[in-house]
Amino acid sequence: MCASSTSQELSVQNPLEVARAQLDRASGLLDSDRAIVERLRRPRAIHEVTVPFHRDSGEIELVYGYRVQHDNVRGPFKGGMRFHPDLDRDETTALAMWMTWKCAVVDIPFGGAKGGVAVDPKTLSDAERERMTRRLTNELRNVIGPTTDIPAPDMGTDAQVMAWMYDTYSVQEDLTGPGVVTGKPVQLGGSVAREEAPGRSVAFVSRELLSYYDYDIEEATVAVQGFGSVGASAARILSDWGATVVAVSDVTGGAYDPDGLEPHGIPSHNQEPEAVAEHGSDTISNDELLELDVTLLIPAAIGNVITTDNADAITADLVVEGANGPVTPRADTVLAERDIPVLPDILANAGGVTVSYFEWLGDINRRSWSRQRVNNELETVMSTAWADVSDAFEARECSWRDAAYVVGLERVSEAHAYRGLWP
Ligand code: GLU
Repeated sequence: MCASSTSQELSVQNPLEVARAQLDRASGLLDSDRAIVERLRRPRAIHEVTVPFHRDSGEIELVYGYRVQHDNVRGPFKGGMRFHPDLDRDETTALAMWMTWKCAVVDIPFGGAKGGVAVDPKTLSDAERERMTRRLTNELRNVIGPTTDIPAPDMGTDAQVMAWMYDTYSVQEDLTGPGVVTGKPVQLGGSVAREEAPGRSVAFVSRELLSYYDYDIEEATVAVQGFGSVGASAARILSDWGATVVAVSDVTGGAYDPDGLEPHGIPSHNQEPEAVAEHGSDTISNDELLELDVTLLIPAAIGNVITTDNADAITADLVVEGANGPVTPRADTVLAERDIPVLPDILANAGGVTVSYFEWLGDINRRSWSRQRVNNELETVMSTAWADVSDAFEARECSWRDAAYVVGLERVSEAHAYRGLWP
């Protein structure tokens, strides 16, 4: 049986404390080696750099950049680069830890890392974004690399940012190293279907979860918060599979139609930023969207949107986390008490890093895969991960989050036990 959630009530909102508490909880369920868990509670390295760059006005701006490398026992460090004004050491460290579990849950040979810059990308021109990215890459040049630590896009970054990172690294190292980053443009060795991959995995596990709880996807209603690369592709794929998507939103608000929206007709954030609310028969606020009475709620925008302030008002039957960390631990407890299953981020959106792995393999072998092959292989990885997590869920009678953590932590711990400590 799982430990009772009240015994470990997590009142904290600091992401690093949340990540550590989640690890402690999973290690309690597994009876893990204390020394290994103590190591995993901390990252292997935190790289914090100052990044000066020229504004278009000629003035010099200074921002903080991070790369936190949590664990690489199963393979090179892997994880996104985020441009967000609130980014700090603790959040980056928590996100790096989540990448370790995410890669282990889907059983790809990578460890966990995360990085980024504390900056609002909306305040940067393209030229400023390029200068900042290139200087950041230079500052991190000694710690990233195709076999050591491989960044990818995350919130506020995209394929163009990865292209600049790849170019800067290659020029400085005097080589052509496409494997140093993933999520690149296809023209530079990026993978087809990479951008939609996190949304595809969200859609895939949503379909499995619906079927697990005996819901017919054709009768399911879905609300998706966030219409970026995760939310838009999840909404479109679920709609293609017969679900009725009744609401989608971006940061400015949402489109709502109880009879169903046509998500393919609504431009995603990348296609036309902040235009979602113009495309429904009715509009809806982000808060209202979260409280809609739907079969499936997918928070796919940012972290900490379902908290103790609104967990009691959630009326969806099922929740699938598209974003990283959208449900706080205390809200998790409230939803569990109300019998609303929550499928965690480390399983649901793992399609992104999985297709990053396919891209990286292609970069090493100088051979790209077709869209069909990428999607088929992604489905194979996700169905194995779903089976592993649902087996743990049933065997331990715990939450879906605990089950995913148990699967991930067990793999990481076993690898540490085999490798041992050097010297
Ligand atoms: N940033 C994505 C995530 O949070 C993808 C990371 C990657 O592809 O390395 O999973």
